[in-house]
Amino acid sequence: MTYAQAPLTIAIIGAGVAGPVLALTILSNPILGRRYKPVIYERLPCPSSTTYAAGAAVALTSNALYPLYSLGLCDILHSASCETTRIKIWRSWGDSGKHRYCQQLRNPNWQEDLQTNLRVVERADLQRLVLDKFLELGGEVVWERKVSDVKAMEQGGMRVCFEGGEEVSADLVVGADGGWSFVRREIMKGLDEGKGEKWKPSFAYADGLYGVSKPIENPRAVDGEDEMKDGDTHWVLLDRGTASTWALPGGRQFWTISFPSDTPPTRASAGDGTQQRRVDKLYGAALTLGGYDLEETKQILKKYENAFHPVAGSFKELYKRSERIIRAPLWYHAWDEKEIGGKNIVVIGDASRLMLPTSGQGAGFSIEDATILANELLNNPPSEENGGWDFSEAIKAYTKARVPRSKSMTSQSYWTGQLGLGANFFWRQLRDFMTTYMPLGGDPKT
Ligand SMILES: Cc1cc2nc3c(=O)[nH]c(=O)nc-3n(C[C@H](O)[C@H](O)[C@H](O)COP(=O)(O)OP(=O)(O)OC[C@H]3O[C@@H](n4cnc5c(N)ncnc54)[C@H](O)[C@@H]3O)c2cc1C
Repeated sequence: MTYAQAPLTIAIIGAGVAGPVLALTILSNPILGRRYKPVIYERLPCPSSTTYAAGAAVALTSNALYPLYSLGLCDILHSASCETTRIKIWRSWGDSGKHRYCQQLRNPNWQEDLQTNLRVVERADLQRLVLDKFLELGGEVVWERKVSDVKAMEQGGMRVCFEGGEEVSADLVVGADGGWSFVRREIMKGLDEGKGEKWKPSFAYADGLYGVSKPIENPRAVDGEDEMKDGDTHWVLLDRGTASTWALPGGRQFWTISFPSDTPPTRASAGDGTQQRRVDKLYGAALTLGGYDLEETKQILKKYENAFHPVAGSFKELYKRSERIIRAPLWYHAWDEKEIGGKNIVVIGDASRLMLPTSGQGAGFSIEDATILANELLNNPPSEENGGWDFSEAIKAYTKARVPRSKSMTSQSYWTGQLGLGANFFWRQLRDFMTTYMPLGGDPKT
């Protein structure tokens, strides 16, 4: 590659987590920043303060924190996130409030050199702080562009088409367009000799409810259990399911309830624009249904209303303090090397593997993907071919590095998810025994 030429264009589809981190990593590196011009295309409108707040929160472990800190985001991330000081595990029975404390993990994922445990941040805040820095460095984000076709051009390069008819050309297309990736579907055309369904993730026979609650003004009095502290995370094992709360800055709590579920919602309504699909108010919160039925969702919320929570007393108290409640089906799959990359096209983040949230690694792995793809672009410059550019070397190196790790974590999160859900007697007994008696590690902080 001749470096004096105009930078090659990378069209990044999706402004979630993986896309912005890749774009920022490219612009922050003096060599990559000279070689490439990353442009992000996102189907949703430019977020305002309200729509930005419309996601769930994510836990960032060291694999996510190292790259983010090296992108110069340490201080801003510290103010936007909360350090988890310990994870306390509880067992709660039925809706009577009966419960038992099991054990705790202190200083989860403590990193001496970073001087932090794992940190929890609202996904929208993470997205915003990465995008702000990318824009500060002169990056470009084009909102409200939903990709509807991606094709290789005969004269080399790629053509990206959007709903509404607009088209742009790019030397490389990177799909960072989430678990139901359109770009992955395009890569897999011709690879699937079956029903054409291989591009889809599998339903985990589970779904989840999520929200971010305002601070609890009058924390429940503690009866002989040790004192509650800021930064406490609680996992509450239910008869069929698991609930958790994660501390966010300012005393807010990110709460989740995951439970077994027989049928996925219809795809047509499940994956599209959940941020915009607020249908009703319940407990004072806007409900986002993820393709599920409103009445059924109300019943599920009611079912877990009285599930024990060590600080709020019950989950109903958390519902009441939430601006929004999101219901989302849980999907998973890790795709093979050929299914996620070609010559001028590749996918990263959830588009390359979709894991159950039990791993706490979806965002972390997306950040790893972005970092590794940028690294491979640095190590393997494209070769010129018939007037276009061939990125096969970099893409092969990226997929080879990522696929085994993705498969292993996807499978691990699937089985820990099954264990956590305790869907039948066997899993429940095993889960209750392990979470009470197995040593959890942690506490390495000196
Ligand atoms: C409730 C919940 C809790 C979670 N907890 C954790 C956790 O604790 N730790 C963790 O690491 N991860 C967690 N995750 C996972 C994490 O949020 C995802 O793994 C991460 O957001 C993936 O980032 P991404 O950029 O690959 O995809 P996304 O964040 O899904 O972003 C994809 C983007 O692409 C856009 N897009 C889609 N299609 C198109 C198109 N055709 N054209 C243009 N744009 C398009 C979308 O609008 C979206 O903005 C959690 C997820 C959920 C739902």
